[in-house]
Amino acid sequence: MTAPLLPGWTHTYSGKVRDLYVPDTTQEAGAAVTAAHGDVVLVVASDRVSAYDHVLSPGIPGKGVVLTQLSLWWFDQLADLVPHHVVSAEAPDVPAEVLGRAMVCRRLEMFPVECVARGYLTGSGLAEYQASGVVTGIALPPGLVDGSRLPEPIFTPATKAELGEHDENVTLGQVAELIGAPRAAELRDLTLAVYARAESIARDRGVILADTKLEFGIDPTTGAVALGDEVLTPDSSRFWPADQWQPGQAQPSFDKQFVRDWLTSAESGWDRGGDGVPPELPAAVVERTRDRYREAYRRLTGHDLTF
Ligand code: ATP
Ligand code: MG
Repeated sequence: MTAPLLPGWTHTYSGKVRDLYVPDTTQEAGAAVTAAHGDVVLVVASDRVSAYDHVLSPGIPGKGVVLTQLSLWWFDQLADLVPHHVVSAEAPDVPAEVLGRAMVCRRLEMFPVECVARGYLTGSGLAEYQASGVVTGIALPPGLVDGSRLPEPIFTPATKAELGEHDENVTLGQVAELIGAPRAAELRDLTLAVYARAESIARDRGVILADTKLEFGIDPTTGAVALGDEVLTPDSSRFWPADQWQPGQAQPSFDKQFVRDWLTSAESGWDRGGDGVPPELPAAVVERTRDRYREAYRRLTGHDLTF
């Protein structure tokens, strides 16, 4: 599952899920997109799925389309709160090969910070709380359990890890050391504003937005902070069906839960603590995961995606 060759674009980077390209201005398509939009990147969401820091095989058909279409929908919902990086998601700016799963974006100078907002406690936040009673330096009341709603949403930043490493939770003070106190406060305020808006939209649709991870950068054309990357997808956020929320246990979620559950089940034969590569996902796990991503899109936007 390598990044596709795209006419007019040069592949520059691949993360676990996304492939990034810059225009190749020696080719007609690359010159045209640069003439029209300036300094841009093409962000392509593949169908790759990762769990426990491994990219798995096979991918989930249509997953990249869901990630991109859901991000585009959310960028629209948030446009009055914060500028975003999307320039075009249409042909001919986006090459035909990746239409639907790609967006041409303003190239931002990304902040080296994963901006996380949490309204509910789970995952790495829960682990930190259980060990110390605080999450990224923020003290929380005693007695909270997996899935508890927090008294108010909190900003719990993390520093971006290299490929294959875990992100590391850090305090607001540590973010301030990296990018300065005013920027750190600005990112916190924007992150919490985005969370509040998205949480309320999701709640109206019967979905709890437990937490989400945002990435911001500076748009060199305006000097202002802009929202980049993907937003409010099942890969960057925890979405829970509201009618099944029950604190004190792991919550069912609209994401790759089936993949994680299967990998850690006896059936897969995989040892999470060992150094072996995870086994191939069975067709039924792939299919149920695909349905779950699609259902997240349908529940949130009210529309179905066909692929
Ligand atoms: P991981 O596999 O852990 O997610 P990753 O975040 O590096 O690693 P992807 O999310 O697949 O990998 O790749 C997206 C990359 O593109 C990220 O590094 C992100 O910061 C960067 N990015 C997103 N939007 C922009 C933009 N507008 N300009 C420049 N870089 C961007
Ligand atoms: Mg990423």
